[in-house]
Amino acid sequence: MSDNFDYDLIVIGAGSGGVRLSRMSAQRGARVAVVESRYLGGTCVNVGCVPKKLFVYGSHAGEDIQDAAGYGWTVPNEQVSFDWPTLVANKNAEIERLNGIYQRMLENAGVTIIQGTASFKDAHTIAIGDRIVTAKHITIATGSWPVTPEIPGKECILSSNEMFYLPQLPRQAVVWGGGYIAVEFAGILAGLGVETTLIYRGELFLRGFDDDVRRFTADELRKKGINLKFNVTIESVQAEGSHYSVALTDGSTMTTGLVMAATGRRALVDGLGLEALGVNMTGSGHVEVDDRFQTAVPSVSALGDVIGTPQLTPVALAQGMVLSRRLFGDGESDMDYNCIPTAVFCQPNIGTVGLTEAEAREAHGKLRIYRSEFRPMKHTMTGRDERSLMKLIVEDESDRVLGAHMVGPEAGEILQGLAVAMKAGATKADFDRTIGIHPTSAEEFVTMREPVAS
Ligand code: NDP
Repeated sequence: MSDNFDYDLIVIGAGSGGVRLSRMSAQRGARVAVVESRYLGGTCVNVGCVPKKLFVYGSHAGEDIQDAAGYGWTVPNEQVSFDWPTLVANKNAEIERLNGIYQRMLENAGVTIIQGTASFKDAHTIAIGDRIVTAKHITIATGSWPVTPEIPGKECILSSNEMFYLPQLPRQAVVWGGGYIAVEFAGILAGLGVETTLIYRGELFLRGFDDDVRRFTADELRKKGINLKFNVTIESVQAEGSHYSVALTDGSTMTTGLVMAATGRRALVDGLGLEALGVNMTGSGHVEVDDRFQTAVPSVSALGDVIGTPQLTPVALAQGMVLSRRLFGDGESDMDYNCIPTAVFCQPNIGTVGLTEAEAREAHGKLRIYRSEFRPMKHTMTGRDERSLMKLIVEDESDRVLGAHMVGPEAGEILQGLAVAMKAGATKADFDRTIGIHPTSAEEFVTMREPVAS
C-alpha cells in the first residue's frame, strides 16, 4: 500500500456502511482511519433501527399484557402502568453498550477513530479542525438526516431524532408522513396510550408497497385506534402554551401535544466541501457515484444513504463489503439490488420481498396471485380483532415467485427466509412441495393452493 499518505483509506462517517468498510479494509491490511462527529454506529444504532425496535417492543408489551387475560392471567388494569422515562433510560443504556461494542470492534481491527467534523482540502486530504490527514482513498459515508417541509411553525415540529429522547409522552400526537418512519412511530405512540393521528398527503400511505398490503395495514392501524387522515397535509403549526394548533389543507384545525414529521431524509453532506472538490451531486441531492461507488473524483468514493440507494442498513453493509473488496481485496465485486427484503415495524409488522402486484403486472405477462387472510392463532383466545395477510405473486408461465408480502406478527422474521428462496429462483411448485411448520402463521406461505386472481 502507498507510503506517501497518512492512511490508505479515510472513511468519513462511522455508521453502518462506514464501519463495515473500515473494519473489512483494516482486516485486509489497509491503514484505515474513520472520522465521526456524532456517535459510533450512525443512524441505525443511535436514532434509527435499533432504538426504534426497542420502542416497538415496549409499545407492544401493553397489548401482550391485556392479551394474557384470555390465557387465564389476572390483569389488574388499574395497577398496570407505563413509565416513558424508564423506557428511554433503558434504551439509552443499551445504545451506550452498543456504542462501546462499535468502538472496540474498530479498535480491535486496527482502525484509528478520529472524533470531529471532516471537510475536504483536496482529493487526498481531509481537515478535522486543525488536524490535517491524508489518504490514498477517501470514502464519504455520512448518511442522511430527517427533512421537515418548510411551513410556518416548522420549529415546533420534531423529527425522529428528537422522538428518541422525548422527556415526556404527550396525551395526543400528530405524525406527519406516510412512509416507514411515520407508520412505525404512529404504532409506537398509539401502543403507549397516546391518541395518535397520522396525516398523509396522498390517497393511501406506504407508497411503493403492494396495494393489498397498504389497504390491509390501514385497516389494522385503524383497529389499534390510530386516526388515519389521508388526502390532506399540514399547512402550519402554532404553539399555544403547552399545546400546538395544527392547520390542515382541508381547512380544519387540530390541537395536539406533539407534532412529529417523518417526511423523508436528505443526504448529509453539509460542510464537506464537495462542490469545490468536483464531486457531482444527483438531482435529488445525493452524491453521484458509478456502480463501483466511485465519485467524479477518482480517489473519492461514497456509499450508504448519502448516495441515494435504498436507505437500509443491510444495503450499506453490503456496499461496504463490496467497496472494501474493490479497494483492497481481490478486485471487482458487484452489488445486487434485486429482491431486497424489508420490514416495516408497524403493529402488526409488514414484511416484503420482490415485486408488488402492480410492478409484476407491468413487467411480466400473466400472473397467478395467491392471498390468505386469517386471524392469528394467538388471538382466537385473546378476542383481539387482529388479522394477518399473506400474498404471493407468481409468474404464470415460469411458475417463479416474483413477490411475497405479509402483514402480521413477526412478518420480518418470516420474510427473511422467503427472500433466500426467492433469491435462489424458487417456483410456486417449490413452495408447494415444502412441508409446513405446524402450527405457525408462516406455514400459510406453503399451503396456499388456489389463486385468487390471475
Ligand atoms: P419515506 O421516504 O419512506 O417516506 C416519506 C413520507 O413523507 C412519504 O409518505 C412522503 O409522501 C411524505 N412526504 C415527503 N415530502 C413531503 C412533504 N413535503 N409534505 C408532506 N409529506 C411529504 O421516508 P421516512 O422518513 O419514513 O424514512 C426514510 C427512509 O428510511 C425509508 O425510505 C427507509 O428506506 C428507511 N427506513 C427503514 C426502516 C426499516 O427498514 N424498517 C425504518 C425507518 C426508515 P409520498 O409518498 O407522497 O411521497
